[in-house]
Amino acid sequence: MCVDLLQKNRFFKLVCGAGNEDVESVKRHVFVYAKAGCKVFDLSAKKEILESAKEGAELSGMKNIHYCISVGIKGDPHISKAGINNSLCLKCGNCARNCPNNAICLPNIIDEKKCIGCGLCTKKCPSGAISMCEKDTDIKEVLPDLVKNGADILELHIMGHDKKDLDYKWKLINECNPQLTSICVDRKNMGNDEILKCISKMIEPRKPYTTIIQADGVPMSGGEDNYKTTLQAVAMAEIIQNANLPVYIVLSGGTNSKTMELCHQCGIYPNGVAIGSWARKIVKPYLSLPDFWRNTEAQDRAVELASSLIQTNFNPPLK
Ligand code: SF4
Ligand code: SF4
Repeated sequence: MCVDLLQKNRFFKLVCGAGNEDVESVKRHVFVYAKAGCKVFDLSAKKEILESAKEGAELSGMKNIHYCISVGIKGDPHISKAGINNSLCLKCGNCARNCPNNAICLPNIIDEKKCIGCGLCTKKCPSGAISMCEKDTDIKEVLPDLVKNGADILELHIMGHDKKDLDYKWKLINECNPQLTSICVDRKNMGNDEILKCISKMIEPRKPYTTIIQADGVPMSGGEDNYKTTLQAVAMAEIIQNANLPVYIVLSGGTNSKTMELCHQCGIYPNGVAIGSWARKIVKPYLSLPDFWRNTEAQDRAVELASSLIQTNFNPPLK
């Protein structure tokens, strides 16, 4: 049960990417991180992605794996995709070289299934040829089906600007009656008081301790392994912890191998950590090999790195 992991403060979630619709990439990540001891995987709201994650888990031989489905509201970067304006493109290749998910084929074609909406390419483009575009999908049909097929947690990212969309999607999520719900929050669009007010209202109809608050530092900023990158996630977790709400606290957004250590130095005791960018980055050289499934040496090395990252987020021993 996911709840056991949370209650024991041993909840580690690999974020495959709310916008990651690349089935092969998801299968490889789940295979490696499940073998390394990860029990929870965050996926985009697509049937084929859940199936591919299950295949990866099956191949790993590990049991009791849980799946969290992420849903964004309008304005959330996680549901955006990059697009290139060919008339402005200089074909310099900067975007492709800097894309963390190999979503850009040279000179300038974007594979939407691989694009996770991080926006890094827009910052690296010298001519302003790239813009981000929201790709909101209707989840009304797909969510109940995903829960029926094994999704344990439904997570709503509330960092967008559209309150009407928030209410609509939160209602849909609750109607699906998942084992747990999760609310992912950051401080980009809301102040501390507004965030707490919003969370309190959202959890009002729910039983105590059936909701996770995912304290997001800066979404998709975890490309580095230092204290500064993870600082905002720890700060966000402190705000939630101080509010004493009947929820579980999990950190994300800039999380890395320093996250739990910094938490403890600051007197923050979360129930778990979710890692995306940094967790994917450390195994990328191995997972992107064309012969990955035959290359057991590469698989073992990737598992070793993943395992070490998971352990740093369980240690020092939790309160
Ligand atoms: S850099 Fe980020 S936003 Fe740009 S194509 Fe790659 S994944 Fe998408
Ligand atoms: S960085 Fe901009 S100009 Fe360079 S190839 Fe990419 S889209 Fe074109």
